[in-house]
Amino acid sequence: MSQETDQEGASLIELQEIDQKHHIHPFTAASALRQAPPFLIDGASGCYVSGQGIKLLDMMAGLGCVNVGYGRKEMVNTAAEAMQALSYYHSFSAVSNPTAAALSGLIANLAPEGMNRVFFANSGSEANETVLKLIRYYWRSKGKPEKKIILTRDYAYHGSTLATTALNGNPAMLEPYGLETETGIERVRAPYWYRQGGSDTPEQHWKKAAQDIEDKIIELGAENVAAMFVEPIQATMGAIIPPEGYLPEVERICRKYNVLLVADEVVTGLGRTGHWFAQETFGFKADIMTLAKGLSSGYVPISAVVLHDDIASVVEDGENIFQHGFTTSAHPVMAAVALRNIDILMKEGLVDRVRTDIGPYFAKKLASLADLPLVGEVRTCGLIAGIELVSDKTTRAQYPIEAGICSHVSQAALLRGVIVRPTGNNIVLCPPFIVTHKEIDAAVDVLAEALTEIENAIK
Ligand code: PLP
Repeated sequence: MSQETDQEGASLIELQEIDQKHHIHPFTAASALRQAPPFLIDGASGCYVSGQGIKLLDMMAGLGCVNVGYGRKEMVNTAAEAMQALSYYHSFSAVSNPTAAALSGLIANLAPEGMNRVFFANSGSEANETVLKLIRYYWRSKGKPEKKIILTRDYAYHGSTLATTALNGNPAMLEPYGLETETGIERVRAPYWYRQGGSDTPEQHWKKAAQDIEDKIIELGAENVAAMFVEPIQATMGAIIPPEGYLPEVERICRKYNVLLVADEVVTGLGRTGHWFAQETFGFKADIMTLAKGLSSGYVPISAVVLHDDIASVVEDGENIFQHGFTTSAHPVMAAVALRNIDILMKEGLVDRVRTDIGPYFAKKLASLADLPLVGEVRTCGLIAGIELVSDKTTRAQYPIEAGICSHVSQAALLRGVIVRPTGNNIVLCPPFIVTHKEIDAAVDVLAEALTEIENAIK
């Protein structure tokens, strides 16, 4: 596509107008689109995206998904070949296809021990929605239909369907749909010492956060509590990284009360923390995990629910039918692309690179921002980071969210050619696994300038 027109002859300006008129954007204030037309991205390569003559270093890998980087010819070729071989067939009624079969086997090989059964969907939300249904089905099959309540945490993000929205910890996402109460979902504290720890030490705080779970189960009655959902790292709400010991303690509590533990590895799965799964990084084991973004590096929509044998054996017992599925579950083209994506991660040793080389470098460089007046805390794990902004470093006080300080900083970074993501009072970075040392240097320099510019503007 040329800079001026698309294949059908519409100019970019016309396309922006069409978009403004007809396209409803996810999680976007309509007023923002009324004020300015959308920025059209029409190309990408490596760690860069481009559009309207501008090239930007994408330190967010899209939405934390383009782990192998943009524009990989081998992914494109795989998609084309797979589409020629079999453009579509469903996977209902005991039919499968070669790429979906191979992908289920590969995921089972990589997954933590005992997680051998895989269900395919199209997005992280659908995978988590599938889990919510599976959990109901599991406890009913076990003769415990009253075990229905799901535990989730403050600051959680698990998706956008109605049921997964109810799992989310951000009140602004619940309120428009009246989902604050009576959803069968109960919230407990997150291990977020920096924001909620008060005068406790970090260790005292995470122990209280874990104790909250046990107290909640006792309050509700273990016979009523079905499962607990955790994102190993709470990515969307600021990259909240659990302290060592917390997730194994969550697992211990869940096992003690016969509550299923679900690891939402939509962001962390497939290498972001430097291991294939964050369960390895943080030393815990879930009963069910969900995967999405990094499964295909965002090239195509595909997600997976991975079940431990103990869960699958109940769900798949006897003549049971799992009354659930999507037209495009196990789509042959999506599965082929996911296989190629994992092949690239393996051949190029990208997960090891995150753990041993680029992840530690990323942490070291970002730590240099911690002395800036606006920066309260820099958190990193593998290739995900949260930079928490404060108005007072000693008290950890924040600027009011409405002041939009993080948005101003990310905008200042964008104007210097670097994409980062503002969320509440945090700036999140989640770059592709192929990011170079030089690109990290450039991004950190830009962030330092952007933070200083905004600090100067508000003081
Ligand atoms: N779970 C987590 C941890 C996520 O971060 C996201 C999306 O950001 C989702 C689930 C939902 O995934 P999707 O947007 O593919 O539905």
